[in-house]
Amino acid sequence: MKLVEPSLKSSPISTFNIERIRSDFPILKLTINDKPLVYLDNAASSQMPQLVIDRLVRYQATQHANINRAVHYLSEIATSEYENARRKLQFFINAQEDREIIFTSGATDAINLVAHGYGRKFIGAGDEIILTTLEHHSNIVPWQMLADERGAKIRVAPINDKGELIIDAYERLFNQHTKFVSMTHVSNALGTINPIKKMIRFAHACGVPVMIDGAQSAPHIKIDVQDLDCDFYTFSGHKLCGPTGIGVLYGKAELLERMQPFKGGGDMIISVTFEKTTYNTIPHKFEAGTPPIAAAIALGAAIDYLSTIGMNAIAAHELDLLNYATEQINYIPGVRIIGNATEKVAVLSFVIDGIHPHDIGTLLNQEGIAVRTGHHCAQPVMQYFKVPATSRASFAFYNNMTEVDALIAGIRNVQEVFL
Ligand code: PLP
Repeated sequence: MKLVEPSLKSSPISTFNIERIRSDFPILKLTINDKPLVYLDNAASSQMPQLVIDRLVRYQATQHANINRAVHYLSEIATSEYENARRKLQFFINAQEDREIIFTSGATDAINLVAHGYGRKFIGAGDEIILTTLEHHSNIVPWQMLADERGAKIRVAPINDKGELIIDAYERLFNQHTKFVSMTHVSNALGTINPIKKMIRFAHACGVPVMIDGAQSAPHIKIDVQDLDCDFYTFSGHKLCGPTGIGVLYGKAELLERMQPFKGGGDMIISVTFEKTTYNTIPHKFEAGTPPIAAAIALGAAIDYLSTIGMNAIAAHELDLLNYATEQINYIPGVRIIGNATEKVAVLSFVIDGIHPHDIGTLLNQEGIAVRTGHHCAQPVMQYFKVPATSRASFAFYNNMTEVDALIAGIRNVQEVFL
């Protein structure tokens, strides 16, 4: 069959007011190397709309104080805004109760919290923890550290050449030693969306609790933790139009209550003597010390913003971007997409024959195009595909078709320069 070159689509999608959305993001007006910024590194960190930046400034200028520890006006305001943000996050992922939302510094922090807080108490010698080949290092290393400490074993669910999990093989990993599953909802390196609802159901049928790393899913897919029935779910604010230094751990209340705190300090206690400390109730038991108050409140504003646009509208727009970009890249000889799962978010990892990913990234940057090159903290994925690194373009809802066209032109330019 003869391939027909798809036509370039520079016009915005009609039902989604993309130009209006873009105007909310001041950074998108930048020029880099005298070219308009084309920001396609959203899987690493997304950008903040003005409204979130304004919320940070308003907090710092008029509401800042430490929380929970005073009766003065500012402390009360800061505390109530912080707790308000917790409720916004609760509704965003449909958690049953706000005490099931714990603010962490990010997904990495949350996974460490569960590995230590749950793992140290409930996982012992000879027990097994199931991960998948698709994990980010953040969802591998904490479990390895735990396994080393406890004498437990890590088992890994494999993937196929499309970058999809092999579900039969995952199910075959379960046995009487299996004590925990921790897996990503969406692969940061490939964009694969895992069928986690089905996988959680299977784990639960074996009596095994499941943690979901939602760092790459919460920004793109409507999350309902009650529907998923996951035991833990985590994501980071900076990938969700919020600031750095803030993330969320959702946990079922009864599990959080049975867990050990991970960090000790102020606010996570009810009483302290040198003989004995009584821990606070959840979620405070897991929020030792002064939390990132400003960042949590700003993340709440980001959630408001995303909810106004609607996660389903966001997902639909990003799917259009993914389909168009995939079609265009597939047409370029010598360019190979790594990860062709049937269910994907808008992440395109690719390699170009004969050109190192870092050279690709450097040349694209000269055109004002920001992509990420490297192993994306997912070395087992790179090992599976036998590549040291890829170039990764990752899209957000504020990207448009013109930017896809710029990426395609940039890739062709890279080939002209190097080949
Ligand atoms: N999990 C996945 C799938 C990720 O993509 C990332 C970051 O890229 C993380 C975890 C870690 O997130 P953070 O660095 O915000 O803690």
